[in-house]
Amino acid sequence: MAKLSLNDLKDFRGKTVFCRVDYNVPLDEAGKITDDKRIKATIPTLDYLVQGGAKIVLGSHLGRPKGKRDPKQSLRPCAAKLAELTGGTVNFADDCIGDKVEQMIAGMQPGQILLLENLRFYAEEEKNDAGFATKLAKGMDIYVNDAFGTAHRAHASTAAVAELVKKRGGKAAAGFLMEKELKYLGGVISNPTRPLLCILGGAKVSDKIKVIENLLNIADVILIGGAMAYTFRKAQGYSVGKSLCEHDKIDLAKSLLEKAKGKKFFLPEDQLQTTEFKAGAPTRNTDGPSIEDGWEGVDIGAATIETYKKEIAKAKTIVWNGPMGVFEIPDFAKGTFEIAKAVAQATKNGATTVIGGGDSAKAVKAAGLAKEMSFMSTGGGASLEFLEGKPLPGVAALSDK
Ligand code: AMP
Repeated sequence: MAKLSLNDLKDFRGKTVFCRVDYNVPLDEAGKITDDKRIKATIPTLDYLVQGGAKIVLGSHLGRPKGKRDPKQSLRPCAAKLAELTGGTVNFADDCIGDKVEQMIAGMQPGQILLLENLRFYAEEEKNDAGFATKLAKGMDIYVNDAFGTAHRAHASTAAVAELVKKRGGKAAAGFLMEKELKYLGGVISNPTRPLLCILGGAKVSDKIKVIENLLNIADVILIGGAMAYTFRKAQGYSVGKSLCEHDKIDLAKSLLEKAKGKKFFLPEDQLQTTEFKAGAPTRNTDGPSIEDGWEGVDIGAATIETYKKEIAKAKTIVWNGPMGVFEIPDFAKGTFEIAKAVAQATKNGATTVIGGGDSAKAVKAAGLAKEMSFMSTGGGASLEFLEGKPLPGVAALSDK
């Protein structure tokens, strides 16, 4: 069922809106924000609410304070940054619940923004505690979630607060950022223009079992890369040298290979191998899927790159999760970067291309191609769980359209 979007709500006059944002920004030693893109990304949602005359109460987490107050993980710098970016006033409450916060909210004027202190200073936040959520939801008429990165967690601010607002007749809507995530990731899962091609890489098969299982049911083509390919190749009887390989997951890999029978499920036909896991170490392309004794695989090989590029060029929808090799070391980055280039080209040719968050997004950025993709997800864990076909609690809690 499609979820209510902020666009479906028009008039916020006289309403107080609780808006869950993701201001989990990196801070340096002096507490200065080193990358403000998460704050910038919420501005369209905030502008819309301000123009609609809402009183806007922002809630977020920052870091992992584990239920304790920690000045180093305060959201205070984010209030100043948001004020600087919007050119307006942003008030800050040095707590997220309690009498003082309630008074501040009661004194707000339409169009004003109040940022609450780190929700995770209370352990109850991550426990989705009903009492804590009741305090957070006090006086809130509308709930908006613009924090896709935490939507896979049922926390008080992502789940219970939305439920409470709905229970008292209010609406719970997706902010513009969240809406974009649902549109692109949802489009891959439920209504892709075919052929749908999925590129899966990264370190471990075990992290991506459910994604592979789900995508085997949906995708027309699956391309596998990264160290997870070695576990599959080992399961087929090839040698993997001293590569990263989940030797205890061979049976699992065998069962996935069984499920993939009859499907276009590609494993690398060759690999780039090295004697040492460091820049400048000798490298050599393998002759086939096997890796030699004393060597370890660090990237997909030259023939694989060509095969994968041809498949990518035929796709109309592409979703990519996990790098093809150890892209962090330039000597081992070629496979990942060539695939990124091919996906960028596919986008130019009209394909819809969706990059999962986390390492895949990092790799595409490192390749300098972030702007060439249709959409880059902001949520690593959340995008993975979405691709697994799991309902995300933070999305499930929103009102239906
Ligand atoms: P994941 O978080 O599962 O997507 O894994 C991403 C990590 O897998 C990156 O840090 C890559 O460096 C790493 N990786 C990819 N291919 C290999 C490989 N062949 N050997 C070791 N690590 C790899």
